[in-house]
Amino acid sequence: MINKIGVLPKFTGTQINYYFVCHRKLWLFSKGIRMEQESDTVFQGKLVGEQSYGRRRKEIAIGDNIVIDGFDAAKGVIYEVKKSRAVEKAHIWQTKYYLYILKQLGVEATAEIDYPLIRRTEKLRLSEEDELEIEKLTEAVQDILQSYKPPGLKNKTFCRKCAYYEFCWQ
Ligand code: SF4
Repeated sequence: MINKIGVLPKFTGTQINYYFVCHRKLWLFSKGIRMEQESDTVFQGKLVGEQSYGRRRKEIAIGDNIVIDGFDAAKGVIYEVKKSRAVEKAHIWQTKYYLYILKQLGVEATAEIDYPLIRRTEKLRLSEEDELEIEKLTEAVQDILQSYKPPGLKNKTFCRKCAYYEFCWQ
């Protein structure tokens, strides 16, 4: 079940995430270029979340761009579930971006990122410094998207796990 709040944030959480992963990936994704593995990865992530937490947590959507894995209104906590075996900067800032958007809507919340595969939970709150950082971050994302050429390639070894590998390297 998705509860619509009804505001359109400028970027999706995935775009914020990809900014930290690879600027070229952010650009390709934002231009609507999708590779099959990309949707598989999203599906697997969803599956991990559902297997770990079942239907206990309700997804919430903010506009058409953002879907947060769970929100406990009584506790004021949002939940994200990651299938990764490592806590990554991309996950942290994606989730802080959600906290920032919620704050813009008058909802103050904290967050927990669950990593079921390593049985770890990362607790987050949004500081004033984070808010300034997110404002800079969204400007940087905007700058990348305004370019009509995709940013350069990353390191080939890093790229092997990426859904765009064949697109970028063949
Ligand atoms: S294959 Fe490499 S350069 Fe291309 S989008 Fe993925 S990480 Fe970026």
